[in-house]
Amino acid sequence: MSVAETHQHVGSAPVPAGETILSVNNIEVIYDHVILVLKGVSLQVPRGGIVALLGANGAGKTTTLKAISNLLHAERGEVTKGSIEFESDKVQSLSPNELVRRGCIQVMEGRHCFGHLTIEENLLTGAFTRKDGRAAIRADMEMVYGYFPRLKERRNSLAGYTSGGEQQMCAVGRAMMAKPKMILLDEPSMGLAPQIVEEIFGIVKSLNEKEGVSFLLAEQNTNMALKYARYGYILENGRVVMDGEARALAENEDVKEFYLGVSGGKRKSFREGKHYRRRKRWLA
Ligand code: ATP
Repeated sequence: MSVAETHQHVGSAPVPAGETILSVNNIEVIYDHVILVLKGVSLQVPRGGIVALLGANGAGKTTTLKAISNLLHAERGEVTKGSIEFESDKVQSLSPNELVRRGCIQVMEGRHCFGHLTIEENLLTGAFTRKDGRAAIRADMEMVYGYFPRLKERRNSLAGYTSGGEQQMCAVGRAMMAKPKMILLDEPSMGLAPQIVEEIFGIVKSLNEKEGVSFLLAEQNTNMALKYARYGYILENGRVVMDGEARALAENEDVKEFYLGVSGGKRKSFREGKHYRRRKRWLA
């Protein structure tokens, strides 16, 4: 069955509005030469937008982000079809470093701070591609501390001894030190208390609005992601099964039932969800 037949669009806007900064066009990804994981994924991120990439564990969100930032080779994966454009340039053959230099930075799932370095040293590692001098880097460090006051408080603590939330903030702060135009943010909510997740998403929104950074946000936490994103794509088994404006997605009955765990005003667990019904409805 073709992707077009399985794909549902909700809401009035056909694609995220505005000039496109990132365009993923019908990509296929294969691991180890045989395992087909992405089966024709397309998505767009407008400049200055926040777009959510949603889906359950194993749907292909991380693979999509790694395909964009050219990090698949280390995992024996490759993009075998389709194209990826950042600021209208095809970027598939660029090194991950070159992509960082062009302003597209990935914040990996699981935070990945250097535990034996202080928070401040971690932030400084984010500026490694810059050539605009110490004063500019110092100024940006203060900008990051302005958004993340907790990091300022913990600036001299070893990152390994800070909380999960602080490490996630450190990972986003480090990405900001590279002066990004766009951040690919993989599952920032993972393992964090809801209050901390709200705090981090609130900061992401401020970075988006005040610093003009575009975000592609991979999340299992559909509820939280749709609160902050303007547009969303839902991935299932390596395919986009639905896309639309965040508000329309949040109000969609299928999304409510299967991703927000809400049906007819009552909460439902994923286990109670009838998977075959979802497949049937979306494949219909
Ligand atoms: P999660 O929330 O767990 O990160 P995800 O939506 O990001 O889920 P991916 O990590 O992209 O999903 O995984 C998509 C599929 O690809 C899964 O079935 C996974 O087992 C498979 N996969 C991921 N990495 C590899 C790899 N290096 N080699 C083979 N298969 C892989």
